[in-house]
Amino acid sequence: MFSDELSQYDWDETTRAINAKTENDVLRALSREHLSVDDFMALISPAAAPYLESMARASQTITQKRFGKTISMYIPMYITNSCTNSCVYCGFNRHNKMERVALTPQQIKQECEAIRELGPFENLLLVTGENPKIAGVDYLEEALNVCRPYFNNLTIEVMPLKAEEYYRLTRSGLNGVVCFQETYNRANYKKYHPAGMKSNFEWRLNGYDRMGQAGVHKIGMGVLIGLEDWRTDVTMMARHLLYLRRHYWRTRYSVNFPRMRPSEGHFQPNVIMTDRELAQLTFAFRLFDNDVDISFSTRERPEFRNNIATLGATSMSAGSKTDPGGYRTYPRSLEQFAVSDERTPAQVEADIKAIGYEVVWKDWDKIFD
Ligand code: SF4
Repeated sequence: MFSDELSQYDWDETTRAINAKTENDVLRALSREHLSVDDFMALISPAAAPYLESMARASQTITQKRFGKTISMYIPMYITNSCTNSCVYCGFNRHNKMERVALTPQQIKQECEAIRELGPFENLLLVTGENPKIAGVDYLEEALNVCRPYFNNLTIEVMPLKAEEYYRLTRSGLNGVVCFQETYNRANYKKYHPAGMKSNFEWRLNGYDRMGQAGVHKIGMGVLIGLEDWRTDVTMMARHLLYLRRHYWRTRYSVNFPRMRPSEGHFQPNVIMTDRELAQLTFAFRLFDNDVDISFSTRERPEFRNNIATLGATSMSAGSKTDPGGYRTYPRSLEQFAVSDERTPAQVEADIKAIGYEVVWKDWDKIFD
C-alpha cells in the first residue's frame, strides 16, 4: 500500500530539498530524457521560474508527440450534494445549511438528456458528496446503469470504496475513478477534514491501490491547491503516481491541479498559486510523465485554458454545473464551487479549433468494457 511508502518521506525535508534546488539542477533536469522525482522537484522549484519558456516548448513538443493536437472533452454531473463529511473548504460541508438533494433515476435520466442537448459529450464524470447511506454502492450502480445508454465513458468521483465495490461497479460500465487526496500532509490532513469518513487519511490514500486491484481502467489523482505548500504536495503526488505505475501498469492515469476558489464555507486558501506557477507545474508534470492525461476543469478562466490547451493539457470539461440537477432538474443554487469558465461547450470547441487543435468528444467505446 502506498501509505507504507509515503511514511519514508519527510514532508519538511522534501520542502527544504525543493527550495534548495539551483539553476544547475534545473538545467540538468531539462537535459534529461527521463526525469526522476528529484528532477521534477527542480522543475517546480523557484529556481526554474526563469526557464518557463523552455519548459513550455518541451512540454508542447512531448504532448503533441504523445497525444497529437487534441483536447478530450468531458462533463461532470453532480447527482447528490448530501455529505457526512465536514471538509472546511467545501460548500457541501455537512454543517452548511443548504438544501440537500439526491437525484432519482428519473431525474438522472433527464440530466443525461439535458447534457446530450448541450453537446456531443461521451465522457461523463458522475460526482457525489460522501454519504454511504444515501449515495452508497447500490445508488452508484443504479446511476451508472441509467447513464450507460447515453455515454460511452463513465467515470465517478465519489467516496473511496472497497476493492470489491470498485470491481462491482466496473461490471456496470464504470471505466474510471477520480479521487483527490486533497493533501499528502499527514500531520495537517485532519485540520481540513475534521470528521466523517474523509478524516481517515490512510483509507483515502490507499483507495488508489484498491482501484488498481479492482482493475479500474483509468485513475484520476489530484491535490487541492490552497491547503499546504503546493510544491511539496505535488512532489508527493508524483511519487504516488510513480508507485501506481509500477504496481498497476495496465491502468491509465490523469492528474488535475484544482486551485481553491471561494466556497460557501468562507474558507480562505492558505496558499495562492499564480497562473505562472500553475503553468510551470503543468510543464514539469508533462516532462516528468509523458503519458499522463493532464486535465483542467472550468475552475480555470477561459484565457488560461486556451493557452494551456496548446502547452500540456490533454482534457477539459465544458458547460459544467457543479450543483446536483443543475442541467435541468433544479435551479442553479446548490453549487459546490463557482466556475470561472462560463462558455458553452460549443464556444469552448470553437476556441480550441481556433488555436489549431481538435476537440475529441469520444475516445472510448463501451464495447471495450
Ligand atoms: S469535499 Fe467532498 S467529502 Fe468534503 S464536504 Fe465536500 S462533498 Fe463532502
